[in-house]
Amino acid sequence: MNLILLGPPGAGKGTQAKRLEDRYGIAQISTGDMLRAEVKSGSAIGREAKAIMERGELVPDAIITAMLAARVARPDCAQGFVLDGFPRTVPQAEALDLMLREKGLALDHVIELQVDDAALVERISGRFTCARCGEGYHDRFKRPRTPGVCDVCGGTEFVRRADDKAETVKARLDAYHRQTAPLLPYYAAQGKLRVVDGMAPMEEVARQIDAILEGGGRAPGPPPTQT
Ligand code: AMP
Repeated sequence: MNLILLGPPGAGKGTQAKRLEDRYGIAQISTGDMLRAEVKSGSAIGREAKAIMERGELVPDAIITAMLAARVARPDCAQGFVLDGFPRTVPQAEALDLMLREKGLALDHVIELQVDDAALVERISGRFTCARCGEGYHDRFKRPRTPGVCDVCGGTEFVRRADDKAETVKARLDAYHRQTAPLLPYYAAQGKLRVVDGMAPMEEVARQIDAILEGGGRAPGPPPTQT
């Protein structure tokens, strides 16, 4: 099963993608996580991407698509993958279509997590993760059960992303509306787009996604009216 989760930063793509990886045995591929690893290692890609990411802008398509092509060729993608944060531009989507066609693969669903911009700034600026195991937390919505101690691994060090500052979040949202939102009509035209209410509680979003994967789900457009 090959999936894309689409939606602005803070919509919950990472949380849901991780869950789908565990539930369906497909590989979670986050180009943001891959780029942060490149920055941390000081590689050539990382050096080029660092300043762009800090400004909340998009890294050039050629870098990203080459990185993605190498990633989907790895053995853990044999059962499929869930893409989180890719594609982010129409040229990236076209490159992905070509890449999949060459491998004899296809996308099963593109799932949009719909959220209000106003809620996103609060969601993003409050988030932090365990430095040891990567478990995600939030100042308001999900604090560790024991303050300062990770629920999962007992780690006591936490990190916040450099680009989760309020000023950068605004640039990231602008990039989403200008460069990524055009992917919605692109995938709707292919009949692949499904939408879920990303404002609902995490478990409800998960339920809506599972309903899509198990054969139902809501296509884009206004809800049906009762007559
Ligand atoms: P994310 O973790 O998905 O929010 O990504 C963090 C940052 O990495 C973004 O703000 C971009 O600067 C960069 N990035 C991640 N994925 C892509 C992509 N598919 N295309 C271009 N830039 C990306």
